[in-house]
Amino acid sequence: MSTIAAIATAQAASGLGTIKISGENALTIADSVFSAVSGKKICETPGYRALYGKVHEGETVIDDAVALVFRAPKSYTGEDVVEISCHGGLYILKRVLRAVLNAGAQPAEGGEFTKRAFLNGKMDLSEAEAVMSLISASGEEARAATLNALDGALSREITVCRDRLAVTAAFMAAWVDYPDDEIPELSDTELTTTLAEVKATLTKLLDGFDAGKAILDGVDTAIVGRPNVGKSTLLNALSGTDRAIVTSVAGTTRDVLEETVKVGNVTLRLADTAGIRTDTDDEIEKIGVIRAKERFDRATLVLMVLDAQSPLTDDDRELIKMCNNKNCVIVVNKTDGDILLNIDEIKSLSSSPLAEISAKNHMGLDNLIEIVENVLGTAGFDPSAPLITTERQRSCVLKATENVTEALDAVNMGITADAVNVCIDCAIENLSILTGEKATQTVVDEVFKNFCVGK
Ligand code: GDP
Repeated sequence: MSTIAAIATAQAASGLGTIKISGENALTIADSVFSAVSGKKICETPGYRALYGKVHEGETVIDDAVALVFRAPKSYTGEDVVEISCHGGLYILKRVLRAVLNAGAQPAEGGEFTKRAFLNGKMDLSEAEAVMSLISASGEEARAATLNALDGALSREITVCRDRLAVTAAFMAAWVDYPDDEIPELSDTELTTTLAEVKATLTKLLDGFDAGKAILDGVDTAIVGRPNVGKSTLLNALSGTDRAIVTSVAGTTRDVLEETVKVGNVTLRLADTAGIRTDTDDEIEKIGVIRAKERFDRATLVLMVLDAQSPLTDDDRELIKMCNNKNCVIVVNKTDGDILLNIDEIKSLSSSPLAEISAKNHMGLDNLIEIVENVLGTAGFDPSAPLITTERQRSCVLKATENVTEALDAVNMGITADAVNVCIDCAIENLSILTGEKATQTVVDEVFKNFCVGK
């Protein structure tokens, strides 16, 4: 395999920057662009050692640098690796990379270092996926959950399930294939217990997916409500900024404003939509209304805002109906004055949970946050539990769960051991695709396609 190199740090001016080189010629290539002040050669340096010196191309010194040496297999990729850290100027980094490439390295593709780590057995596919999730983590729970996945929490859970299925399948196959031998028959109770327990573990993983996704990726959220009910004020109250202009003239919020807000343990990408009004003649406002509806359709969570100080209107009723198929929280705002809104009528129109607040006075927000966490299922999220972090993993677990369910049904219907084993084999296959042991080249390429260069 070729020796690859890339800038591993952000492509922006910073204190330090690192060029990473990996492959069988990493040490000699590094030696040709780096001279230690001690005179030591990188090729003669043991792993986990650093050398201080100059990085250069030919006679031209580019920068002062530190070269960190890792020897195969004890490195991230499992290959010989050298990391050259120099000053983090963009030009300097590109210049050092060019020198390294001119010395014989190939430019690394996005995710190629991690792909090599996977191919060299340093991590399985689900752990590799956790690398990018960890890099993108925007909060403490996301960090803890993805680090846990990188440490193999999901892999271990999946391996236990797969091993249990494999032992069962092997036992049944032996019993079918060698009927004359003294292999005791696996009782239906033992078989169904194993299958039911594996199914329960897989189902629990699937159940945690949406909450995990909300915590890892954030949640598209629409704040809807007719003009002047206090949507912008709520957005500001949650985000603590004055980005949306709050006025008492109906229809001021003409476009869709987005704000990313940490609400409890989850990041909401909040869009304050223009009041969804159908009776506007204002062309610009019409565009806002269309965008608001699009944003509404896309949203995973809707905060439906009502004005407690005015009676329910037909527009409100229409919106409440629209929200009935959505993850929605009805936010009754302006509860700081006389309440003219008929809360019982709202409850008869919608089964969504209801939060009474005063956005202007920042009252009731904690309760609203708690309700949001409950609706998204993120309340009580345990970052130390195994977590499915990608759609690919979810699809594998879903298929394996279906296979195990089919196997269970087959046992219950008294279908032959052969047929049960076919279902169990499919489940094992799907779990092996998840961890990467049986993943096709296309699946592997797809996983690493979205990685950044240098990781
Ligand atoms: P939007 O059109 O739904 O975005 O509404 P705004 O956020 O622009 O608010 C409209 C008006 O309602 C403004 O004058 C706000 O000050 C007022 N308002 C918003 N929230 C509250 C609240 O909790 N209590 C009271 N009394 N007024 C509020």
